[in-house]
Amino acid sequence: MTALRGHALSSHSYESDSNVVPLDAVPHAYHCPAGHVTTLAFHPEAEEIPETWDCPRCGRHAHLDETAARRLAGSEEGLALVSPRSSAAGKTHRDMLLERRTTDELEELLIERLQLLRTGER
Ligand SMILES: [Zn+2]
Repeated sequence: MTALRGHALSSHSYESDSNVVPLDAVPHAYHCPAGHVTTLAFHPEAEEIPETWDCPRCGRHAHLDETAARRLAGSEEGLALVSPRSSAAGKTHRDMLLERRTTDELEELLIERLQLLRTGER
């Protein structure tokens, strides 16, 4: 009885070793202060699960602990905390747009577009 069980267990583990399928991987959700959630899968026997992970979307430090992320989000520091190597990643489309054009220019463009739309209707 015991021998049979032992055999079944060892053949099972042999199988999962040979195809390294992330079926039994354990998902861990990292919450960044900006509200992004990154889910990473770790091997169930992984010795070290990092407590923080750089958010791939904005470069801020995402925390395993959602409460920690929320606390950071509540402070200006948390939201300003962006890894230097990915500082561009935290910019919104509008930020990048404003770097290239002033608000006045954008307003002119908007008026132009609106006029084009209006004339197109006629
Ligand atoms: Zn983020």
